[in-house]
Amino acid sequence: MKTTDIFAKKPVLSFEVFPPKRTNPVETIYETLDSLRKLNPDFISVTYGAGGSENCKATTEIASRIKNEYGIESVAHLPCIGLKRDDVISLLGGFKRAGIDNILALRGDIPEGGRPDGDFEHASDLISFIKEHDEFREFNVLAACYPEGHTESENILTDIRSLKTKVDAGADHLITQLFFDNDCFYRFRERASLAGIHVPVEAGIMPVTNKKQIERMVSLCGVSLPSKFTAMMERYEHNPEAMRDAGIAYAVDQIVDLIARGVDGIHLYTMNNPYVAAKIHEAVCRLLAA
Ligand code: FAD
Repeated sequence: MKTTDIFAKKPVLSFEVFPPKRTNPVETIYETLDSLRKLNPDFISVTYGAGGSENCKATTEIASRIKNEYGIESVAHLPCIGLKRDDVISLLGGFKRAGIDNILALRGDIPEGGRPDGDFEHASDLISFIKEHDEFREFNVLAACYPEGHTESENILTDIRSLKTKVDAGADHLITQLFFDNDCFYRFRERASLAGIHVPVEAGIMPVTNKKQIERMVSLCGVSLPSKFTAMMERYEHNPEAMRDAGIAYAVDQIVDLIARGVDGIHLYTMNNPYVAAKIHEAVCRLLAA
């Protein structure tokens, strides 16, 4: 099933998981998924660490099991940086054979050492490539978007112009980068709509459970932190349980506001933490159904 068909029911609730680190056996993710499935998400997406065939194997295996064994729709992420056309044909063929219908088409981050050689400059090139191939055209294609603009973009307006290119190339559904200030999301949604972007946009929400995690995210993605968020971190940073509870409460507060204002869907960055996902689900499941 295509994720876009799920939006007949609104708002959608979806989760992101990542394959376990190389030092952990792949089975550890299935314990997480055993818990997440009980929350009845509309779909689960599986990340893919750019630049390695082992990463692809894990993403394909997990996305395939989510779909074929857990009976939940899945999305496989695919960053194209450093890939050749033949690599992409082989990866898409693997996703297709595994019964995966949905691909989150990404460029991937540019490594510190510089951009590796590859046939795709932007995610839009990957999306066009998928749509140009008869055997892959049927994939439902998702793409990333950035309420505060991508860090490489000159400003939010040029970023939205690039986003329109992705949608025109064939992106059917967008998922945002995490954000902590809902007003950024509402401004972005309005600008995207004015730019002619009318595909569903899911809001990416990351419940923050420790200060280190957020410092890393801010340095990577450049998201802004509202004062009520930084006050919360300062108050609880030395008390892990209180920090976790406050992070959950903050995410719930964001989600309640987003649902009230008609968001298409909530995409929860679970960080493979089923406890946090369950607490958030418990707080908002009746609102999602109302
Ligand atoms: P692009 O859409 O190519 O955009 C990158 C930059 O180029 C932007 O500044 C954009 O404005 C500009 N641009 C885009 N198209 C054009 C164009 N046609 N002409 C000119 N400029 C253009 N990374 C991973 O490695 N693995 C993952 O699994 C993963 N999952 C993610 C999931 C989500 C929901 C999000 C939001 C991000 C994810 N990322 C992942 C991170 C992502 O790879 C990075 O944010 C990366 O830096 C940009 O990827 P993109 O697909 O948005 O790139």
